[in-house]
Amino acid sequence: MIDMHSHFFPPITRELAAATDRERAPWLAVAQGADSGHIMLGDKTFRPVGRALWDADFRVAELDSLGVQTQIVCATPVMFGDAWEAARAADWAQRMNEQALIFCARHPGRLKALAQVPLQDLNLACAEASRAMRAGCVGVQIGNHLGDKDLDDPQLVDFLIHCAENKIALLVHPWDMMGGKRMRKWMLPWLVAMPAETQLGMLSLILSGALERIPDSLKICFAHGGGSFAFLLGRVDNAWKQRDIVRQDCPRLPSSYARRFFVDSAVFDPGALRLLAEVMGVERIMLGSDYPFPLGEQRIGQLVRDAQMFSAADRQRMLRGNAEAFFAL
Ligand SMILES: [Zn+2]
Repeated sequence: MIDMHSHFFPPITRELAAATDRERAPWLAVAQGADSGHIMLGDKTFRPVGRALWDADFRVAELDSLGVQTQIVCATPVMFGDAWEAARAADWAQRMNEQALIFCARHPGRLKALAQVPLQDLNLACAEASRAMRAGCVGVQIGNHLGDKDLDDPQLVDFLIHCAENKIALLVHPWDMMGGKRMRKWMLPWLVAMPAETQLGMLSLILSGALERIPDSLKICFAHGGGSFAFLLGRVDNAWKQRDIVRQDCPRLPSSYARRFFVDSAVFDPGALRLLAEVMGVERIMLGSDYPFPLGEQRIGQLVRDAQMFSAADRQRMLRGNAEAFFAL
């Protein structure tokens, strides 16, 4: 199995974070030898985390027990720094990407890294994406939006074109979720806003006509099975047929673009996986667990392995072959 969606967080000290941004740069608070700790922002606790997030040896021992041969790791989105001054974010991104490669280098062949980029500056983002690929990363992870800008923003489209032209595979991860004031409890931002953020990213590329300008060669994967996208695509098609304001920038039926996208398999339900395969195609679904977080698939690959409605060959594609091709492993 290749698990293409997992996160890491490097052992950033409070001093190192403060040198970049005292309030907003994240750091890792772990007592000596402890198996759990916290990601911190300044003095504030951001999230409790466990050892697999920063300890590559511990992680690979768990992957052994789960039967995962290769795992692709990327930044925990709080590391992005998209709201910082660009040069500072670029320097930070380069350091985080070096940390990702150091993490993976403990188990070459087992762990591969996606880079992060300073998305707020097109030139710096393109430069860091290309530099990180030369340094050994196998792709780039970006958030689904940059402040108020969605993926159809001209600068973000130019970044996607750079990735298409330079064979840089992309994972788009939802983050910085909408509706926060109304979603204070029960992890609602993860349950409601995250799937909507992902759908928004995908629809912004379709309905803006951006996919007409971005080369077909773009390899772009959306996390969490594309969030709300597959289930609501019929609603979007209907709106496109009924209303000229939906059609105004998008020359083709929205669903006709679905197969420009890849998605991971993190949907936790066999019926949802079947729908995803019908909408996206089995060749565009890749095993992704969201390891090591609690909302990820705990027995990595179980949903796909147990999905008897697919042939053994199709399950194998989702568990391994599709990711091998996507990331040119
Ligand atoms: Zn994730």
